[in-house]
Amino acid sequence: MSERTEINDLGEFGLIEHLTRNIELHNASSIVGVGDDAAVIDLLGRQVVVSTDMLVEGVHFDLMYTPLKHLGYKSVVVNLSDIYAMNATPTQVTMNIAFSNRFSLEALEEFYEGVLAACDKYEVDLVGGDTSTSQKGFIISVTAIGEVAENKFVKRSTAQQGDLLCVSGDLGGAFLGLSFLEREKKIFQESPQVQPDLEGEKYVIGRLLKPEARKDIIEFFSASGIMPSAMMDISDGLSSEILHICRQSNLGCVLYEEKIPIHNDTRNAAYKFDLDPTACALSGGEDYELLFTIPQSEHEKLVLNEQLSVIGYMTAPEKGKKIITKGGNTFDITAQGWNAFA
Ligand code: ADP
Ligand code: MG
Repeated sequence: MSERTEINDLGEFGLIEHLTRNIELHNASSIVGVGDDAAVIDLLGRQVVVSTDMLVEGVHFDLMYTPLKHLGYKSVVVNLSDIYAMNATPTQVTMNIAFSNRFSLEALEEFYEGVLAACDKYEVDLVGGDTSTSQKGFIISVTAIGEVAENKFVKRSTAQQGDLLCVSGDLGGAFLGLSFLEREKKIFQESPQVQPDLEGEKYVIGRLLKPEARKDIIEFFSASGIMPSAMMDISDGLSSEILHICRQSNLGCVLYEEKIPIHNDTRNAAYKFDLDPTACALSGGEDYELLFTIPQSEHEKLVLNEQLSVIGYMTAPEKGKKIITKGGNTFDITAQGWNAFA
């Protein structure tokens, strides 16, 4: 009898690792392959960055509360985020869509309005794609291409012991936005006459439905001569991403709970759900902020940007991956990041 292994036993990252374990690169021009936010390719002496992401209805988005225009915008932005996470500048995207006959021309036009709004805002060109039908639901796959000055790309695997661990913006908001929308959806399904009560939650809902990629941070790095030693974007939750940097750089880390940036509106939203705001920042996904490490000597440059927070530092691998709570207790950081297979 042939063996059958459930995908759930591996998890998303275990699966990717398993499927890609036998890849042999045939071309010297493949500079960075699987395992980072984007691949880096050498095209006749110019370095080009490529990344692709898929969004599936019912898994990544729910059209009950996701306006199609926002969805179009977000599907581009999340891909650009991976390009910025390499310290690169996106230049082109391609867009593949598959949709069932439930979708009208007007619906797809709305989706494209959002796609083009993102292309305008980030000054990238939509240069192609593919269109298909699907039996059920809406599937979106975007590929983003970018450029980076020679050898200025930043991987996940090159953090150094003693480096500062930093993030942009604030965390946990998108997860709470999702929690509100899911709650209102349930209420609506049970009693359609009830009006949604989302007043006061604009910030967190905006974080979910209309994320932005941190172009400004990459520009700040360039203008102030900062070169992160490692970087990635935060799509799955801070703890899971920190563990990626630690594992791929073969280091440990210390993270201070009190340093994790959380917006006041996010904090208040968490309390409404009886959730710990820190847990939302650590495990909630889809913030699309940048997580990076820099040498301590760069600290002075960093403090000039109030959008950046130092949240910890990198240690020797045998020190483990630790979080120090506000109360002074030390725990292991565990990956409870959002998992598409959960
Ligand atoms: P991100 O969250 O930054 O989009 P992912 O977690 O999706 O990154 O993917 C991690 C790495 O694995 C990336 O380098 C990606 O290109 C690669 N990858 C993901 N799925 C596959 C696949 N099916 N085949 C080959 N490489 C993959
Ligand atoms: Mg990424």
